[in-house]
Amino acid sequence: MTGKRDGYISWDEYFMGVAKLSGMRSKDPNSQVGACIVSQDNKILSMGYNGFPMGCSDDEFPWARDGGELDTKYFYVTHSELNAILNYRGGSLEGAKLYVSLFPCNECAKAIIQAGIKTIVYECDKYADSPAVKASKRMLDAAGVRYYQYTPTGRKIEIEV
Ligand SMILES: [Zn+2]
Repeated sequence: MTGKRDGYISWDEYFMGVAKLSGMRSKDPNSQVGACIVSQDNKILSMGYNGFPMGCSDDEFPWARDGGELDTKYFYVTHSELNAILNYRGGSLEGAKLYVSLFPCNECAKAIIQAGIKTIVYECDKYADSPAVKASKRMLDAAGVRYYQYTPTGRKIEIEV
């Protein structure tokens, strides 16, 4: 009798892989973040990456980080987590799990909490010392949203397209 094959990717590798693949769609020259929302029974519900809202041209709106407030990206960009939440048109995200390549900011934390997402698996937390991430964790803790860092397996996944 032949058993199942070895070397298949784990659920965590699969979903973080999808999150990171989504991030590759971002036009932001400095920061590419991707998110993938998964149901409690491991079905992918939605994906997102950081970008401008529909109708706001990637060629006309600013990607700069410095300059006048209206000339930087910050007023215009929708983060990957919020995009993934808003991209979902199927109903409730209650109890869902969010995979994201960067720890959510305070604005995304609000949306995550209000959407009923209960678990966050994040890859990187490089802005842990920023007020936005501190506020984010304060709200997530208060709301009982669990978050933990993804454990990299070191597996290289190559896809020819
Ligand atoms: Zn955010």
